[in-house]
Amino acid sequence: ITKDEHAFLLSCIRDIPDYPKKGIIFKDITPLLQNPEALKITTEALTRPYRGKEIDLVVGLESRGFLFGPSVAQNLGAGFIPVRKPNKLPFHKIAASYELEYGADTVEMHSDAVKKGQRVLIHDDLIATGGTAAAATELVQKLGGEIVGYSFLINLSFLNGKDKLDKNGLFEAVITL
Ligand code: AMP
Repeated sequence: ITKDEHAFLLSCIRDIPDYPKKGIIFKDITPLLQNPEALKITTEALTRPYRGKEIDLVVGLESRGFLFGPSVAQNLGAGFIPVRKPNKLPFHKIAASYELEYGADTVEMHSDAVKKGQRVLIHDDLIATGGTAAAATELVQKLGGEIVGYSFLINLSFLNGKDKLDKNGLFEAVITL
């Protein structure tokens, strides 16, 4: 995207201090979703690096990975797969856990979501520590999928989340902070 577009998108992301808990600055993307032009620029920027890369599936991470994921999938002629928090998916599933600052978290995916050899793009609105995207990587690989890329709207790069991910995946973030 252009410098002007970058500045425009940044102006559509709202900082909410101490949400959901003290010390976290939450990146609220609802103003960006609300603006038709910002919505269009973002969807295209998330899609562009993966055109012609023969993506079969976009895997979106709960819950804000469900906002752009299906649009990106549609742009790429791919399907969409939700990765969800525990006990949300109704069918047979596989799970992966990852460490948090205090305790651990788990994500789940349907066990028929990815077929062996399918080419997968993992998407979320924001990468912080990379724990969620790394767990999703594990789920995809467990089912024999190939990680082709990672697509985030925002990368909190000072947390080095990228280092936890599959090095073969093309890593793209629209906005790096
Ligand atoms: P992580 O596993 O640490 O990379 O965290 C990524 C997940 O947490 C994503 O689904 C984000 O939507 C959410 N998240 C983490 N930090 C923030 C933040 N500062 N603002 C908004 N969402 C966040």
